[in-house]
Amino acid sequence: MTGTPLTLYNSLTRSLEPFKPIDPTNVRVYSCGPTVYNYVHVGNLRAYVFTDTLSRVLTWKGYPLTHVINITDVGHLTSDADAGDDKMEAAAKASAQSIWDIAAHYTAAFKENIADLNIRTPTHFPLATDHIQGMIAFAGKIAPEHCYELESGLYFDVSTVPDYGRLARVADDEREGRIDPVAGKRNPQDFAIWRKSPPGENRQMEWASPWGRGAPGWHLECSVMSQHFLGPSFDIHTGGIDHREIHHPNEIAQNQAHCDCADTGATIWMHNNFLVEREKGKMSKSSGDFTRLQTLIDAGIHPLAYRLMCLSAHYRSELEFSSDNLAAAATRLKRLVMTAQALSARDDGAETADASRYLDALDAAVSDDLNTPRALPVLDEMLGDKKLSPATRLKTLAVFDDVLGLKLAALTREALRVKPAGTTISPEAIDARLAERKEARVAKDFARSDAIRDELAAAGVEVMDGDPLGWDWKSTL
Ligand code: AMP
Ligand code: ZN
Repeated sequence: MTGTPLTLYNSLTRSLEPFKPIDPTNVRVYSCGPTVYNYVHVGNLRAYVFTDTLSRVLTWKGYPLTHVINITDVGHLTSDADAGDDKMEAAAKASAQSIWDIAAHYTAAFKENIADLNIRTPTHFPLATDHIQGMIAFAGKIAPEHCYELESGLYFDVSTVPDYGRLARVADDEREGRIDPVAGKRNPQDFAIWRKSPPGENRQMEWASPWGRGAPGWHLECSVMSQHFLGPSFDIHTGGIDHREIHHPNEIAQNQAHCDCADTGATIWMHNNFLVEREKGKMSKSSGDFTRLQTLIDAGIHPLAYRLMCLSAHYRSELEFSSDNLAAAATRLKRLVMTAQALSARDDGAETADASRYLDALDAAVSDDLNTPRALPVLDEMLGDKKLSPATRLKTLAVFDDVLGLKLAALTREALRVKPAGTTISPEAIDARLAERKEARVAKDFARSDAIRDELAAAGVEVMDGDPLGWDWKSTL
C-alpha cells in the first residue's frame, strides 16, 4: 500500500472524496462498455484509458480489484430516447448482416484496441445478451411498484424513487427537451425497462417476457450485470460524462427500486470528459464521422502515443484531438523510449541512491484524483536524474510503467516505427537506401544523394537530416 491516501472526484456529490472501499480486500469497479454496432473511436477509447488508469492506480495502491467492462450488444437506441431503432438492429439492417455477426466483429475489434493501448483485460467482460434472463427477473421484481405498461413497453416511473436525477443535476425542463415524448408516459424522464417488439415486426434479437416479445432497455443491462458480478453495493461506477445525465441516473433509479432503499449501487460515480475536435465538437459514433485507433496505426502512429496523449490531460478535462497534439505525444513517447534504451545500454546492475522521492511524487499525483499530467514531468525528472544509476532509474521506471501503462522499458525505437498502411517500401529497404545515401554524401556525390532522397519521398518516406531526436526518416503518409 503506497503512502498518500487516494482521493477521487465523485460526480454524485460533485466533490473530491477520500476513497474508502466497502471491502478493502476486494475493490469492485464497473465501467459502462461500448455499444458494438460500429467500431469504437478514439474518443470512446479515452474512456477506457481512464478506467485502466483507475484500475492500475488501485492495484498499485494495494487493493485487490474486480473490474467489469460490459459489452452492449443489445438495447441501446439510436438516441437516449425510448422510441426509435435499436442501434444494433439498425446496423444489421444497413449492412444486411446478422446482428450477432456484427456484434462479434466489433467486439473483437474493441478488444484488439484495448490490447494495443495496453489496457488491462478486466476481470469480467460480459455480453448483455448473456444476461437477458437476469434482466427479466430484475424487471419482474421492480415492475409491481415502480413500472407501468404501455403499448410500446414496460416503463419505469421515476417519481417512485427518492431524489431521481440527483446525479444529473439538470433542471427538469432542460432534460425534458432531450427525450422524445412517448404517449402515455407519466413523467417525461420515465424510461423503458422492456421494449416490446412492434406487432408484425420481427427483430433479430428478441426474447419472450411477461410483457411480451421484445428486448431490454439499455439502462437495465448495467444494473443487472453490475449486480451479478459485483453485488448490489460496490465501490466505483465509471462512464463518459454523457452518462451522467440519463444512463447513470436511470441505473441508480433501478438500483433503488430493486433494493427498496436509497442506496445508489456504487458509492462513487466517476466520469471522464470528452475527446473533442475543433469545430466538430465531441467525437461521436452516431455521427459516423470519427477516427479509429486503426486509422492512427495505419498512419504510422504507435497506439501508445495516443495513450500518452490521453494521460497528458486530466480525465475530467476536455481533450482536443488534433494532429498537432498527436504529433507532440508521438515525439514525447519517442524521447522517453530512447532515454530508456540509452539507460539499458549503460545498465551495469549497480544501484545507487534512493529514488523514493520520485515514487512519492508519482503517488501524490495519481492519488490526487488520478492526476496523470502531474505524474509525467516526475517521470521526465527521474529519468534525467544523473545522481541515480541507470539500474536504479530503470527499476523506478518499471513502477511508472505499471501505473501509467506506457511500456517504456519494453518498447524499442524500432517498434515505434509503425509501418503506415500505404508504405510501398520496407523499413529494411529504407535503411539500405539511407546507407547508400550516406556513402554518396561522403563521396560528395550530391546528385546521387538527392536522387535517393527523391526516390524515398515518392515512396512516402521523408529523410530527416539533423533531426534532434536522431531519427533518420519519417513517414509522410
Ligand atoms: P458508447 O459505445 O457510445 O456506449 O460509448 C462507450 C463509452 O465512451 C462511454 O463511456 C461513453 O460515455 C464514452 N464516450 C463516448 N464519446 C466519447 C468522447 N468523445 N470522448 C470520451 N468518451 C466518450
Ligand atoms: Zn452502462
